[in-house]
Amino acid sequence: MPQTRLTVLSGPSGVGKSTVVAELRRAHPEVWLSVSVTTRKPRPGETHGVEYFFADDAEFDRLIESGELLEWAEFAGNRYGTPRAAVLDRLAAGTPTLLEIDLQGARQVRASMAEALLVFLAPPSWEELERRLRGRGTEPPDVIARRLEAGLIEMAAEKEFDLTLVNTSVQDVCQALIALMAEADN
Ligand code: 5GP
Repeated sequence: MPQTRLTVLSGPSGVGKSTVVAELRRAHPEVWLSVSVTTRKPRPGETHGVEYFFADDAEFDRLIESGELLEWAEFAGNRYGTPRAAVLDRLAAGTPTLLEIDLQGARQVRASMAEALLVFLAPPSWEELERRLRGRGTEPPDVIARRLEAGLIEMAAEKEFDLTLVNTSVQDVCQALIALMAEADN
């Protein structure tokens, strides 16, 4: 089977990336979604090995030092990274492979894998993004403030991406992603 092209979904925190990923997981099991490692504590309902592998700082340091992460970034006080071997194995096997990562991570993927397809998920408007970030209700105010600041910076990064999908409907975004991944491999 031919090597497939890596697709990266990124965009501001709160834009709905994890909702898109949850819908893909449900409706498109043929797409392999990388499970990141994070030092963030699990939110209610999150399961180790499903949304994330939860690790402590010492374990994360070890993963960086041993080169086991394809990319990693610090976001709002926690670290997040993509296990390298799992991604490379899936690509070599020809499996449609998707990373859902932040902008810093997307830049690192661009630098190390020029052929990767970088997709920017944009909110219908900045006001909508701000509403979603404030409305989540699971984070303290200082964390929300840091997420808003990061979101503003991330919105400006759209031009670095291969293309933009506007998150008006989760189903539409999923369909567009599936079509793009199929197209990218032809
Ligand atoms: P959350 O804490 O809300 O799950 O995620 C916070 C941010 O971290 C999101 O923007 C998400 O895309 C990003 N993120 C999740 N996993 C990774 C990863 O492996 N690498 C990078 N660079 N960012 C990640």
